[in-house]
Amino acid sequence: MVRNEPINSEVEFAGGIWDTWWIPLGEEVYLHYATDVTRYKKMEEELRHLSVTDVLTNTYNRRYFTHKLEEEIERAKRSGNKFSLIMLDIDCFKSINDCFGHNAGDLVLKSMAELIKNRIRKIDTLARWGGEEFIILLPDTTVKNAVHLAEELRESLSRMDIPGVGSVTASFGVAGCCPEDTIDTLVNRADNMMYEAKAAGRNCVRYMNECE
Ligand code: GH3
Ligand code: MG
Ligand code: MG
Repeated sequence: MVRNEPINSEVEFAGGIWDTWWIPLGEEVYLHYATDVTRYKKMEEELRHLSVTDVLTNTYNRRYFTHKLEEEIERAKRSGNKFSLIMLDIDCFKSINDCFGHNAGDLVLKSMAELIKNRIRKIDTLARWGGEEFIILLPDTTVKNAVHLAEELRESLSRMDIPGVGSVTASFGVAGCCPEDTIDTLVNRADNMMYEAKAAGRNCVRYMNECE
């Protein structure tokens, strides 16, 4: 602590958060005041949450995911650790909306997000990539292990009973990070694999194991 310099800190006190100042006025004499900033801190936290969240599914949004993926690519380059992506897209979602209504479609999206969140690890990141497309970042995970997880999720999803809809399926694409990958090349590979799963008849997993 530097003498004769004002000191500013945030403290928790009496169930709130206070912005406090100690301002030196003279030898051993300070002016001290504190402002209750609890309300602003809560608003700040809510705004931060909103800026990274997809509100319908309460998963991360695409912007946050891209930021996490960029960090993970850098981390993998330094550490040499492997990581993988799973991209999944609900099958025939348009006809679910058409048959059961948009609210039922929304419920499918929420149920699917819950199912995945309950299965993945804390260090994994699930995001809504687009309308009925989700993406999962799996740090320290080989393609083989990511394929196991994708198979498990595919199976659980197809067995889940969604009220007013019944069961739905999804197609999965898996790709592992390669040394020269950028966000785009890696996401495109997972996306291409997901489209291969669609072309193969849907409700299945396709993956790319090798780096070229
Ligand atoms: P495929 O198996 O080839 O993926 O067919 P699909 O019908 O799932 O794909 P398509 O791209 O034709 O349709 C996607 C639909 O998703 C169309 C769009 O109206 C719907 N959708 C996108 N976002 C939402 C949403 O937030 N809620 C609901 N209920 N529907 C959405
Ligand atoms: Mg779809
Ligand atoms: Mg789609």
